Amino acid sequence: MGENIIKCGNVSISLKPMVQAIDRDRIERRLDDLWEIGQTQKGGVTRLAYTDEESDAFSYIQAELSSSYSITEDSMGNLFATREPEASDSIYIGSHLDSVYNGGRLDGTLGVVTAIEAIEAVYNSKCEPAHPPTLAIFRNEESARFGQHTVGSRGALGQLEVEDFSATDQNDVPLWHAMQSQGFEPENLSHPTINTERIAGFLELHIEQGRVLDERELDVGLVTSIRAPVRCRVTVTGDHDHSGATPMELRCDALSGAAEMITAIESVATTAATDGDLVATVGDITPVNGAINKVCGEVSFPIDIRSKEEDYRDTIENRIVDTIETIADDRELRTEIEHLDRSEPVQLDSKFVTVLEQSAETSGAAYCCLPSGGGHDAMNFQLAGIPTGMVFVPSINGISHNPAEATKPEAIEKATRILSNALVNFEE
Ligand SMILES: [Zn+2]
Repeated sequence: MGENIIKCGNVSISLKPMVQAIDRDRIERRLDDLWEIGQTQKGGVTRLAYTDEESDAFSYIQAELSSSYSITEDSMGNLFATREPEASDSIYIGSHLDSVYNGGRLDGTLGVVTAIEAIEAVYNSKCEPAHPPTLAIFRNEESARFGQHTVGSRGALGQLEVEDFSATDQNDVPLWHAMQSQGFEPENLSHPTINTERIAGFLELHIEQGRVLDERELDVGLVTSIRAPVRCRVTVTGDHDHSGATPMELRCDALSGAAEMITAIESVATTAATDGDLVATVGDITPVNGAINKVCGEVSFPIDIRSKEEDYRDTIENRIVDTIETIADDRELRTEIEHLDRSEPVQLDSKFVTVLEQSAETSGAAYCCLPSGGGHDAMNFQLAGIPTGMVFVPSINGISHNPAEATKPEAIEKATRILSNALVNFEE
């Protein structure tokens, strides 16, 4: 490791004695306590956005914070806590407490619990960070309930459109109604609830949700960018025919055509991934009036294409569309492609990556830099022009959004120390 000299306030000190006090037991206890809130029969946790369970988790964290914190709640129900409310600016650090249906123990909650521990470690170390930290906990990060992702952080930053509040859940309850039922009355929709001028940076720890770090046996990942999806739905139309009465050469089978298209998409993406950052997925397929005794006349499937490079993603998207159309022509099928979503990839702040890298080096963690495959609250801060950094801990066997989600306690400890060192050392 060596004796790394880094700046701490106005004094140069050795990093070693600085941030040692990471309380692993307290992290585990809080994770266990949160795991109880919204426990399901299936062994996981269901803490959906703007439900009593999500609010209970917020109350739990609020009760865990010592009286030295000044706590505020915005009109979206997001929570902010700092020991230095009078500071001219602050680094925000945190994540979310909602979950998917029957989700795991760490998604979101780990980012909240470790943020508190990283802040505690900063104050215990008696260092004076250039920008004092603020704990930030957001509502409704998961799209599980309303089909809308990162609602709390987008709302806080003024990135929501008025119509986003009309999104409904599976019981037709609109988002705005669910917010009201939890006691929140957002006014001035589409206006920020926080003063972005006073946010020097944003930092989030999250579980990876993929298998890159686990496969490579690393402790942490430093996120350089966030892949953004383009999503569309392909409808393939042929002829509905009787499975016994229609000879093979007279068929126009939409389902067989779709099957050929889906394997072709995988093959285009696999080739593209050798030249650049790219993943493409068909995660569903819906035949219309399919039956065992029918040739399928209509089928639809979604495509999700992601890359950290927008231009490259769009090039591969065109290649995929061409491939689909060629297959359709060969089989005399008709296709319609409906565009669902097109988001822009986010490059995280390079200065933050450098500080995190330096912190990883000095804490002796085995790490790599990688893009994030999923979206997070952090990306909204970078999109708002606020320097943003993200740290990942490995997902054991890549398991995510599942009760079996796990990571090693040592990885949590190292990642928390990295966060805390970054809080002390990041200067805008
Ligand atoms: Zn999450």
